[in-house]
Amino acid sequence: MRLIIMGPPGAGKGTQAKFIADHFKIPAISTGDIFRANVSEGTPLGVEAKRYMDAGEYVPDEVTNRMVRNRIDEPDAANGFLLDGYPRTVAQVEELDGMIEFTGHHLDAVVCLTVDQEEIVSRLLQRAQVEGRADDTEDVIRRRQEVYLKETEPLIETYKKRGIVHEIDGMGEVDEVTARIFDALDVVPES
Ligand code: ADP
Repeated sequence: MRLIIMGPPGAGKGTQAKFIADHFKIPAISTGDIFRANVSEGTPLGVEAKRYMDAGEYVPDEVTNRMVRNRIDEPDAANGFLLDGYPRTVAQVEELDGMIEFTGHHLDAVVCLTVDQEEIVSRLLQRAQVEGRADDTEDVIRRRQEVYLKETEPLIETYKKRGIVHEIDGMGEVDEVTARIFDALDVVPES
């Protein structure tokens, strides 16, 4: 299975990604998490990424693409993967198409979580208190939403044309959202 989970910042992608990935026994690959790990380890990639992340801007495609390519090449991703936070730009969509095509596989599905903008801001501000992420201040959250609407939301249309998008209502309890996703992906619940 090769899947993407999309949705605006704070839509709950990371939370749901874990359940989906566990079910299909594939790694959930979050570009945000990989960048954050590099920032905390102080690697050159982390130093480069941090200035964009702190401002709510996207890290340049070239840097992000290279990182994802390396991660997908790891043995645990040979049977599939779930991407969370990638692709986010037209150039990243093209790059990912190339990466998957190269391995002779195809993209199975794109899960799009839809949420209410204002609900998101309050979710993210709450997360800021719990996790203390540097990019969870109100100004930066608003900027991330703007960048998402401009750069990433249009990509959903691209995938819709391929007929692989499942739009899922991301509002409500975590397990309700998970159930909706599994339902859309035709996953039979384990009893
Ligand atoms: P969010 O919760 O806002 O969706 P993530 O944790 O996925 O955020 O990512 C945090 C930050 O990492 C982004 O605001 C961006 O700076 C950077 N980032 C993550 N994925 C990408 C990507 N595919 N392309 C460019 N930048 C990215």
